[in-house]
Amino acid sequence: MIQSTDLPDTGKAYVQTLHDPLFAKKQIGVDVLRLDKIHTIVSGNKWFKLKLYLQDASKQQKKGIITFGGAYSNHLIATAYICSCTGLVAIGIIRGEEPAVYSPTLLDVQSYGMKLQFVSRQQYHDESFIAQLKQSYPDFLLVDEGGRGEAGIKGAEEILHLTAFHHYTHVICAVGTGTMMAGIINSSLPRQQVIGIPVLKLVDGGSKKVSDYINENSSSKNFELHYDFHFGGYAKKSNELIDFMNQFYNQHAIPTDFVYTGKLFYAATKLIKNGFFKPGAKILLIHSGGLQGNRSLPEELLHFSY
Ligand SMILES: *Cc1c(COP(=O)(O)O)cnc(C)c1O
Repeated sequence: MIQSTDLPDTGKAYVQTLHDPLFAKKQIGVDVLRLDKIHTIVSGNKWFKLKLYLQDASKQQKKGIITFGGAYSNHLIATAYICSCTGLVAIGIIRGEEPAVYSPTLLDVQSYGMKLQFVSRQQYHDESFIAQLKQSYPDFLLVDEGGRGEAGIKGAEEILHLTAFHHYTHVICAVGTGTMMAGIINSSLPRQQVIGIPVLKLVDGGSKKVSDYINENSSSKNFELHYDFHFGGYAKKSNELIDFMNQFYNQHAIPTDFVYTGKLFYAATKLIKNGFFKPGAKILLIHSGGLQGNRSLPEELLHFSY
């Protein structure tokens, strides 16, 4: 078992009801599950997705974990921090050339003791490179980017159980790999619809890949993906998105990140506005954390700190 006093505390997650004249007029209830509150450093959903990998590493008596991510990755920061708490060695394979100036995220993961290896984008996605890594580090557990995979999905099945989730007709979450969403679907009731908002622009069969992955890994087909809220692609943004995030914070005192949850809350508001939900719907939105990613933005853009 993993033991440390400074790991995330899922007991700190809570449900916040959103009060908004639009929702009232449409007779729709909207609650937010604040997974961003479980820890100051480890981003909301990443803890759930990592948990069982850590148990696997400990069961298999591995020395540490090798995993993958970009320069602002929530997954890398969560992995690096948790490994430092639990005595595991962390190796981060970073997508792209080594930058002259490290991002705040890279500086943080390094300060938590993660060893960094920068690889070209081509190599990053190359299967023979991954095979070679496995061979070079037999004492390490290899965890896919973002905690993608079976253990990640199993871990995410815990999320809905933090709430009285049978109250809800719909659950909406942001989608990167789809790992969290698959876990949420698996723990939802057959009458509940789970709606995913992909934050990437999924071209060249990408949308099929994500929906296939979710389909193959979830027990219910009662889910839907809405592909129109990526704002140009992964970590892309517009003034409209930033304005929305500021206004959302002013109204509800909920900070969001521009990569995942900003797009999620924007999408949910739009869908409600457009009459997507019938009166009487009760919606649970998953605030999956990730606020540290806002450190890649110019400081003055957001009117809240994170
Ligand atoms: C990683 C991440 C997601 C996406 O999770 P997937 O399981 O990869 O779909 C959503 N929200 C936040 C804040 C994240 O950091």
